[in-house]
Amino acid sequence: MSKGRLVIISGPSGAGKGTLVDRLVSRVPGVWVSVSATTRRPRPNEVHGRDYYFMSPEEFQSLIDDGDFLEWAEVHGNRYGTLKSMVAEKMDEGRLVVLEIDPQGARQVKAAIPDAVLVFIVAPSFQELERRIRERGAETEEQVRARLATAEREMELVGTYDFVVQNDDIARATDELVGIVESLGEKES
Ligand code: 5GP
Repeated sequence: MSKGRLVIISGPSGAGKGTLVDRLVSRVPGVWVSVSATTRRPRPNEVHGRDYYFMSPEEFQSLIDDGDFLEWAEVHGNRYGTLKSMVAEKMDEGRLVVLEIDPQGARQVKAAIPDAVLVFIVAPSFQELERRIRERGAETEEQVRARLATAEREMELVGTYDFVVQNDDIARATDELVGIVESLGEKES
């Protein structure tokens, strides 16, 4: 049994997951955030190996075939997955591992690692979520609509999560997330 704990963070795009996770990392020592593989194209400010491992559908498929993913899912027409080996290595080191993944992936990880803790981040309102997605300006109108539809669907899964953090105020939401993570501590064995 590995020593480290696993925290899964999900929530609609625009809920502010990325910012909250960055703040968590700067507040709590020993947190390691997994870098996912994806077939999505990089956005202008994204860096291979830091934000994602960007790859072709063929490369992604061969990782699936080799059983290298702890979980993977298709979101908005692209595939995203968590690499098993990296998560296992960091958990063995006793690190607190954070996965920022969608609810389909969260369900798969919870089945494989039952004491994983699931945290769902929500925006204060649907209108605010829409405003934040549009403000980011990274997507076409069609993509914005797809993200909003996914957000609506994902909101129905809130009840299956261990904790729900409302990101109304970033400082307050950070405190709440830090509190959740610090209360987990390290496993005995
Ligand atoms: P984005 O394209 O905005 O970076 O991410 C889109 C969605 O994919 C988000 O909900 C994000 O949490 C999810 N995602 C990112 N990496 C993974 C992963 O490795 N596995 C799964 N299942 N979802 C992921």
